[in-house]
Amino acid sequence: MEPDYGDSIGYWSDRWIGDTPLNQKFPALFALESSKNVVIADCIEVTPTGMHWTWRWKSFLSSLVEANEFNALLNLIRDVKIISLEDKWKWDEGDRNFSIQHIKSLCFKAQNKVPNFPFPWNNWVPKKVNILCWRIEQNRVPTVDNLLKRQLQVNSSICKLCGEEAESSHHLFIGCRISSMI
Ligand SMILES: [Zn+2]
Repeated sequence: MEPDYGDSIGYWSDRWIGDTPLNQKFPALFALESSKNVVIADCIEVTPTGMHWTWRWKSFLSSLVEANEFNALLNLIRDVKIISLEDKWKWDEGDRNFSIQHIKSLCFKAQNKVPNFPFPWNNWVPKKVNILCWRIEQNRVPTVDNLLKRQLQVNSSICKLCGEEAESSHHLFIGCRISSMI
């Protein structure tokens, strides 16, 4: 997120600078804040000399923790430039601008990832059924295509049930016209 004038971004609650919202990064200061829901614009004072941050502390900063947090906060926001009237969302993927094509390529990449979830074991069916499903998911069933990959000799690569397509795990358990009728 890129704060411009900041009339909709929560100063403490939104992640607008750094990796964490300021209320988590500076809890002692947040405890001293008298208006917990302020947006960035509420924290800026415009004067003839420019824009300045303003503070609304309930009491003076007194402890070392508060002083240290305040120094760190000042360092963090020192170089923030406030430049326009409306907040806007920024596409956080490198330097590119938002595009449907880019979204499509991200989805395509995500689809091609090997699933990294644990296999859901089902206690209602026999153990051998669970094992078979697990092997299907891993593509470790000795179907013709897998036998060929291991250079084993097979007479034909065509599915013996329908005789129409090459036999693979996907075809046998999902695509085959005959097995889908069982
Ligand atoms: Zn078939």
